[in-house]
Amino acid sequence: MVTGDGAYIKKLNRNFILGKIVEHGMISRAELSKVTGLNKATISVQVAELLDTELIFETQQEHNVVGRRPIMLSLNRKVGCVLGIDLDYKEITYTLSDLLGFPLFSDTYELNSSNYDEIRELIANQIKSYQIKSADRRYGLVSVVIAIHGTVGKDETIFFIPQHQWRNKNLKADLEKDIEISVHIENNANLCAFAEKIFKHHHSDNLLCISMYSGIGLGIIMDGEVIKGYHGYAGEMGHMVLFPDGLPCKCGNKGCWELYASEASLFSLLSQKMNKKDIGYQDIQHWINTREPEVCEHMNRFIKHLSIGLNNIINLYNPETIVLNSELLHLYPNAIEEIKANLTSSVSQYRELVISDLGKNASIMGACAFGIKKFLEIPELSLELSDRLLPIETK
Ligand SMILES: [Zn+2]
Repeated sequence: MVTGDGAYIKKLNRNFILGKIVEHGMISRAELSKVTGLNKATISVQVAELLDTELIFETQQEHNVVGRRPIMLSLNRKVGCVLGIDLDYKEITYTLSDLLGFPLFSDTYELNSSNYDEIRELIANQIKSYQIKSADRRYGLVSVVIAIHGTVGKDETIFFIPQHQWRNKNLKADLEKDIEISVHIENNANLCAFAEKIFKHHHSDNLLCISMYSGIGLGIIMDGEVIKGYHGYAGEMGHMVLFPDGLPCKCGNKGCWELYASEASLFSLLSQKMNKKDIGYQDIQHWINTREPEVCEHMNRFIKHLSIGLNNIINLYNPETIVLNSELLHLYPNAIEEIKANLTSSVSQYRELVISDLGKNASIMGACAFGIKKFLEIPELSLELSDRLLPIETK
């Protein structure tokens, strides 16, 4: 920290104050002074500047019994939009949200190509159309955040997307060349963990989020910070070896966890065992309801394999909150109890284990929240979960 630098301290105060306004929803100047510990004169100057930027607005509280009704301050959620993009294997989802993470539009497009230039152009055109949709707001579209299902470096370059076979792509720079907007690239598991913290588990500073769809990705938040490792690739727990002589994995090893405990692994196994192509959640739900013996046996084994990996991760991080992001676990009766029953080691300790309520929306909600935090430049962000979650089609 540069002490004595007036402009720097002013900026820190501004960010801190704006963060508190977002956190409280509505707050008076007097309350702001109390919760920030800053004196009233500082609050007054900063609030005046924030009002000038239209990032906040004033309202008069309705129901105060006696005396002057205090003037309350709130974030002006409508002055700008952020765009979250989830770049998956077979589809791309776009969600435009306001500055409090409330979704305004959401579109999903099928993806029939893995060609980098084609996909870059598709994304660029969509960003431009969302810029037009946001043009009537004072700040327009302020930020674009793209969730990548692969490894992303600390400099936001894509190191590898296995399903598209992209290596060393600088999508951020390629898009920013064409469009005047700040683009951020993040790993989807990190964004899922970020979304769980921002929208659901506000007070958990040590949170692990495990996304278990096509592979298994781990987003790690420790002491309130996303942990990325040396290059930025930390969290590839799907490639933790469960069986040294197990199934061959695309990563080059054998017996990786995601070959036994991802949704895709179970879908493919059941498809083979039940002799049915393209099975979906509804099939599995039906088989669970009718207690199909073969399906029950494989589900049990799936839970067991999932628990072994969880045990290892818990030992590594001693987390406060573990969120399992899986649609499948919602279908399985008492999934959490069964997993907990397998976590019997007296050494591995955690506080809570839950299934995500955000589901497949987590990644894109995390992308929007990340864009909001970057734009507002606030140190900590907590947002309310909108009851208007836009559904994303599931398999
Ligand atoms: Zn592997």
